[in-house]
Amino acid sequence: MSIQKNLNSIKNAVPEHVTLVAVSKTKPLNDLQEAYDAGQRIFGENKIQEMTQKWQKMPKDIQWHMIGHVQRNKVKYMAEYVSLIHGVDSFKLLREINKQAKKYDRTISCLLQVHIAEEDSKFGFNEAELLELVGQGEFTLLENIHIKGLMGMATFTDDMVQVRREFNGLKRSFDILKKSLPEINTLSMGMSGDYKIAIQEGSTMVRIGSSIFGVRN
Ligand SMILES: *Cc1c(COP(=O)(O)O)cnc(C)c1O
Repeated sequence: MSIQKNLNSIKNAVPEHVTLVAVSKTKPLNDLQEAYDAGQRIFGENKIQEMTQKWQKMPKDIQWHMIGHVQRNKVKYMAEYVSLIHGVDSFKLLREINKQAKKYDRTISCLLQVHIAEEDSKFGFNEAELLELVGQGEFTLLENIHIKGLMGMATFTDDMVQVRREFNGLKRSFDILKKSLPEINTLSMGMSGDYKIAIQEGSTMVRIGSSIFGVRN
């Protein structure tokens, strides 16, 4: 299957109101170009250095999403151009993004990452921490960031009942947060293996890699 065909079949399975992020991490520029030529304009990467190299070489109307874990000392390398940072998991990181965005006179959109999987290794806030962060209101002083919503990753398992339960929990957190932050509109959940369930549970943004570009090495 070609990238273009894969992309078209994913687009057919994803409703209008859900944004498709094409996750191109580890893939060569030719593959990204093929997706671009098929109309894709939003790409997701999980390493800042790799994303920056691709940003430099690819057309400038692409929106680059950082979907991986972000180290604070590397925010400066993407502050000039990044369109959405999905994995914000601390107030300190938010403050650093704000500081770097200011240097470029930009406002950077962010999603707060919520820990929904049972594995310990996945980063993110729990619901109580999320409400505490928002309740303190300190982040409203950060004028160069814009919190757009939440992001989460389900447990890596074949148990789709569990995956659905985790997505459902994230949607509930989103709805609770929306009471304090009515402007939030983005719920980033769902990957190649589980995006259909994620959409049924209220996802507005799916991050799909291998179903578009093929398996990664
Ligand atoms: C790699 C990755 C994806 C895409 O995974 P696929 O299974 O290839 O669709 C989505 N989200 C995050 C955070 C990722 O790191």
